[in-house]
Amino acid sequence: MPVDARFDPAATNGESADGQPSESRETAAPAGGATLQGIGVVAGIAASPALWARPRPQLPTDGPEVPEADRAEQKQQFDTAAATVSGRLQGRAEKAEGHAAEVLEATASLVTDKGWRRAVNKHVEAGVNAVVATVRATDTFVAKFEKIGGLMAERTTDLKDIRDRVVAELRGEPEPGVPSPDEPVILLADDLAPADTAGLDPEFVRGIATQLGGKTSHTAIIARQFGIPCVVGVGAALEGVEDGALILLDGERGEIETTPDPAKAKERADESAQMQAKIRAWSGPAVTADGTRVQLLANVQDGAGARAAAGTGLPEGVGLFRTELCFLSAQSEPSVETQAGIYREVFEAFPEQKVVVRTLDAGSDKPLAFATMPDEPNPSLGVRGVRIAFEQPGVLERQLDAVAVAAKGTGAEPWVMAPMIATVDEAKWYGEMCRDRGLIPGVMIEVPSAALMGDELLEHVEFFSIGTNDLTQYAMAADRMASQLSELTDPWQPAVLKLIKMAADAGQRAGKPVGVCGEAAADPLLACVLVGLGVTSLSAAAPALAAVGVQLGQATDDQIARAAQAAVTAPTGQAAQDAAFDILKGGK
Ligand code: PEP
Ligand code: MG
Repeated sequence: MPVDARFDPAATNGESADGQPSESRETAAPAGGATLQGIGVVAGIAASPALWARPRPQLPTDGPEVPEADRAEQKQQFDTAAATVSGRLQGRAEKAEGHAAEVLEATASLVTDKGWRRAVNKHVEAGVNAVVATVRATDTFVAKFEKIGGLMAERTTDLKDIRDRVVAELRGEPEPGVPSPDEPVILLADDLAPADTAGLDPEFVRGIATQLGGKTSHTAIIARQFGIPCVVGVGAALEGVEDGALILLDGERGEIETTPDPAKAKERADESAQMQAKIRAWSGPAVTADGTRVQLLANVQDGAGARAAAGTGLPEGVGLFRTELCFLSAQSEPSVETQAGIYREVFEAFPEQKVVVRTLDAGSDKPLAFATMPDEPNPSLGVRGVRIAFEQPGVLERQLDAVAVAAKGTGAEPWVMAPMIATVDEAKWYGEMCRDRGLIPGVMIEVPSAALMGDELLEHVEFFSIGTNDLTQYAMAADRMASQLSELTDPWQPAVLKLIKMAADAGQRAGKPVGVCGEAAADPLLACVLVGLGVTSLSAAAPALAAVGVQLGQATDDQIARAAQAAVTAPTGQAAQDAAFDILKGGK
């Protein structure tokens, strides 16, 4: 059982720091245990005995008054304890690598933070002992950070962590926190502090589950770096899991199964470990099991992102450069020269390769100060994407000029596409503007009307790129930001797949490429279905590409075609997903 004195079950009611609900959700599991629901932050499956992080020290908030003559010695004891804790963390930082080392160093320096130490000394001067002074000073900072909320509130875990370490040191107790197991375990905790997670040994810590935390918590960041399957924000129900109990953790679905069938759990964990190893080793290019090539491209938002994506060696170019994200803080329209400088960085990251630039998709969920209509009653159905060009003449033309200037001399192929195209006239007008500048024109398929009019649109442009995020939103009339509508905003919805197929069929008839650049392309199973529907390239954030590449490599062309056919004719999104899973993975 957890004996963590810091954990207050009341704290799990309501929202976690990233706005996700953190109340425990528990459903019955087939094996007689329960399935606890949290937030999956690192994919992968682990099945091992649970092991709780070591108890934190009891924290007194009061104690007998320390005589004035002894206060200097209390200060000295605090200084010594803080120096010891800081030194220990620093030592671990030197042995660690990458982000883990940075986190340990940052925590070590927190122990020597002047503001915190001054606050502790003040309490000692007022007559309390070093332990109580440490607790009181930390409480003040924690209360302040929690009031600010958001990321600052998440950082209170770090503060509480150094408090506990210093208190344990002052009392001569062993260091609290993560144990060092010598056999595989799934580590359970209320929340892990950076210093805890940075010292993890992934050989033995096969999974991590925490009661608290969100997608941006340190637990999530470090688990991601180590590639340890991780579920955070499980809530108070996690407390019911005993040390040593076998549990199955699914980091993709964000689930913890208690008392699973041991043989089945082991089988799932072994399969997942093999898959993870393949994903880490995958180096492209993407081909199906029958050798059919599928072009994998990267979604980027600036030069730095493009260089990072190119550095992985996986993408064959850029499939979506979201230019509007470069100007989120710009108060006025950037000059052609400024824009060209930014775009050139992306072209230079992929010399001689395909780079698909999307013209400004301002408005709705991506407002730009210089290109968004104020006070629209319904912005997602309003003047957004290419429609801005009709309200603010010149903005689009100048952007295309900048793209043409940027591409010159880089050797990159400048493909440019407009978001939110809805009519044939828009495609014709856009295509002409691009050709006048020597750019290869295409349109995004995000509005259902564009998919329905695919043949006619392709008379005027050279390619399609399907934005499944918006296509789903508009096909299902469900706001993509509304988490309570997640069943409708699911690109597995057969209605969405039918529209994708219409666009892909039009591409095949015209002999022109049709890619997907929405989040659907990052889902390995759905990516196979998209290819089966006739899509010729997939574009996603670079870290997602290897998993897609591995899944494609395991599927024959026949399986891909059958999975696509089954999904597009399924009655529901869930049925489409299940049917594709059965065909591509050979049953659950
Ligand atoms: C999409 O809608 O799928 C897309 C790729 O565009 P964005 O997510 O930037 O709106
Ligand atoms: Mg979109």
